[in-house]
Amino acid sequence: MTNLFYQTKSPRPTLDRAEGIYMWDTDGKRYIDGSSGAMVSNIGHSNPAVLDAMRAQMDKSTFGYRLHFQTDSSEQLAAKTAALAPDGLNKVFFVSGGSEAVESTLKLARQFALTQGQPQRFKVISRYPSYHGCTLGALAITGYAPMTAPFDPMMMRMPKVPAPRAYLDGLDPTDPATGLHYANMLEAKILEEGPDTVLAFIVEPVGGASTGALVPPAGYMQRIREICTEYGVLLIHDEVMTGGGRTGRFFGAGHWGVTPDLISISKGFGGGYVPLGAMIARDDIVDAVMGAGGFIHGFTYAGNPLACAAGCAVLDQIAEHDLIGNAARMGDALADRLRGLMQRYPLIGDVRGKGLLMAFELMADRATKAPLPAHLNAHARLVDIAYDNGLIIYSRRTRGGTSGDHFLVCPPMIVDAAQLDDLTDRLDRSLA
Ligand code: PMP
Repeated sequence: MTNLFYQTKSPRPTLDRAEGIYMWDTDGKRYIDGSSGAMVSNIGHSNPAVLDAMRAQMDKSTFGYRLHFQTDSSEQLAAKTAALAPDGLNKVFFVSGGSEAVESTLKLARQFALTQGQPQRFKVISRYPSYHGCTLGALAITGYAPMTAPFDPMMMRMPKVPAPRAYLDGLDPTDPATGLHYANMLEAKILEEGPDTVLAFIVEPVGGASTGALVPPAGYMQRIREICTEYGVLLIHDEVMTGGGRTGRFFGAGHWGVTPDLISISKGFGGGYVPLGAMIARDDIVDAVMGAGGFIHGFTYAGNPLACAAGCAVLDQIAEHDLIGNAARMGDALADRLRGLMQRYPLIGDVRGKGLLMAFELMADRATKAPLPAHLNAHARLVDIAYDNGLIIYSRRTRGGTSGDHFLVCPPMIVDAAQLDDLTDRLDRSLA
């Protein structure tokens, strides 16, 4: 009997403790955390330095309302975050999660347009499929029908363009013509909507939950930057899942050397130690909005000392242990292992990702890309079997909202080669 109502069809074990890449249930069974929760526990569980930093902060204060007190930990975390961000984005606004971070970018963008004498700009173009959060604003720009449909009448209807799923469209992702093909759909959509009505375009640099580690084709990220600049559309990078180093760069977009106007970050930023996220914004955008009377937005728990102290310690651990370098190296090793499984299991139709943001997709037919029939419920069944084998992975069924089973394999960035072998072996047995 439980008073909670979460949506898992299969009963889940009760968590007892967690350390490094491992988690134990109350029966003493050990699991490899093969997805870092929901791509959150990037530096692993129970990191002693982070716990020490949290204890030290707790001994001093746990909460100070940001409009009543400055705090050292929030100043330090803002400085560390700005130092990691692209040039020109030095303004940081703390929140407690990914949806709040995305919501903040939308509202800052809108207020900026007002300061620029452009009240007609309100449309935020996003991609289909995509996931940007579960608040009504973030949901309005989320391209995932199973989560949006029931709430549709309550949300603004926002325009969408297709995510560049070259592997389904039979296009070569390494060919710059492919990147142009998808990027030009954004330009066409801006023209269709009327360029002076479009406020922003939001994109996950590497697609996350909805697309399963979708890496953009060559030239795509650069071209959408150019298009946004040309039409005065703000470019938002939703780095809630990609930010924090998992892809092998601190920000996922770092792989393409592209600078957005606004960034949302969360998940690995607090590393699973505290609810934490941030919006990082272009200096002149924030100056304009603050100069015109301030940002009409904010959350009570934002920038609380405990969350910020933990966030500082998480960033320090990433730097001190070169976890981003390890994510790049182990990501390559994981990709090799997943491709090895693909050679042995025809059911695996695609392996993709960057760094330790990796995924594979099950298909009925690799050549035609036909998905498995929905009634097989493959995405749920493989996860259940993996649990039996002491492995936790994250799955979604997306393709167009109705079909396509993909699995994110995203262990913490501290993982080593022997642990990857163990993980792959458990996955192999589960697939078998
Ligand atoms: N944006 C992206 C890219 C995400 O992956 C997520 C979470 N899966 C969110 C936003 C929403 O974050 P949260 O669940 O912390 O609100």
